[in-house]
Amino acid sequence: MSKFPKVKLHWKILIGMILGAVVGVIANEMGFAWVVSSYVKPVGSLFIRLISMTAVPLVLASLIVGVASMKDLKKLSRIGSKTMAFYIATTMIAITIGLILANLIRPGEGLDPKVKEQLRSDYSGIVESKINKTAEVSITQQILDIVPLNPFNSLATERGEMLQIVFFALLLGIALNMVLPEKSQPVIRFFDGLTDAMIKIIEMVMKIAPYGVFALIAAVIADFGFDILQPLGKYFFAVILGLFLHVAIVYAPMIAFLSKLTVKKFFKAFSEVQLVAFSSSSSAATLAVNMDVCQKKLGIKEEVTGFVLPLGATINMDGTALYQGVAAVFIAQVYGIPLHWTEQLTIILTATLASIGTAAVPGVGMIMLVIVLQSVHIPPEGIALIFGVDRILDMLRTTVNVTGDAVVASVIATQEDLFENQPGENVPA
Ligand code: ASP
Repeated sequence: MSKFPKVKLHWKILIGMILGAVVGVIANEMGFAWVVSSYVKPVGSLFIRLISMTAVPLVLASLIVGVASMKDLKKLSRIGSKTMAFYIATTMIAITIGLILANLIRPGEGLDPKVKEQLRSDYSGIVESKINKTAEVSITQQILDIVPLNPFNSLATERGEMLQIVFFALLLGIALNMVLPEKSQPVIRFFDGLTDAMIKIIEMVMKIAPYGVFALIAAVIADFGFDILQPLGKYFFAVILGLFLHVAIVYAPMIAFLSKLTVKKFFKAFSEVQLVAFSSSSSAATLAVNMDVCQKKLGIKEEVTGFVLPLGATINMDGTALYQGVAAVFIAQVYGIPLHWTEQLTIILTATLASIGTAAVPGVGMIMLVIVLQSVHIPPEGIALIFGVDRILDMLRTTVNVTGDAVVASVIATQEDLFENQPGENVPA
């Protein structure tokens, strides 16, 4: 036995993150960001690739098993509709919080015209190509695109067409319940084994998480232009305050009053997932860690985690939606475009849809913002204004996105009585 007490993984990750931030700031200040990006960043990229690798097989396999394990269709539709209702309601509350704060704080007023021009010219090239890509797809086409022509194709793209995979997995799960058990059982067992194996891979990969997180944070901070924080300070502050409020006034009460867990136990167990979400900026990459912690530490049964979490990673993005609300008002204020309350309602609707369609990978929330801006006639080129601080906000909104999925999973597990033994019994005191 070692003489030293064992340091818990989430502490190691936190230490990695703090050291990474220190190295990043020093590199940024002393002008050797290139050293970090050439020699340190690859360690972070390796970690991201290893955790992202599990996302596509895990969403497919766990959803099929999750749906197929709910034997009667009534139970499936009850859990399915409750999950969707919670997801949509929390997303709409998140955007509303974002809109209220942006209207109160008014981050876009008083932005120095020189800074505005500077930001526009710095990022207009990158932004233009992103806008063109988004503008090409109509809403009808996006809805049609949820149905895959060939599901194997959806699985085989680099990051997987997640909405298509979810759609196919849900239908396949339902269909497996309708065929003879001797035919469906081997298929379900195969996907069940695949799910468990993906989670085992993540448990192995998480051993290097502190190093990966160190490298990721060092690389982001070393590249970050701190000068940009000052003119965009109010906008930055409004998003962060909104995210914090959403956790404090929506998630914490949901855990306290609608679940069998305590707020302390939930956040204690969940910090490991939040640290991975923060440093990876990707809900999809964080999914396996989220499932592992929800099952093993919070004690939620696989029946719930296998269904609620992969669905949430794909469509439930409260942090992204809140940020889109603040960003839309901010850009409108900078351009001097007044937003009537009917337009703010349109923002709530389009941002809810946009957050459902947002892929769970870094930076996509900002691209989907184009759709929200277009719906209320704000020039989409305005995203150039917020480009510089987006990466840091992406880290924070992703952390909120994954927390929302686990909060809903805890509530559903409570309502359906689907906890293993004592809820949260594996969370150390
Ligand atoms: N990075 C976010 C996520 O994966 C999506 C976004 O807002 O860009 O949840």
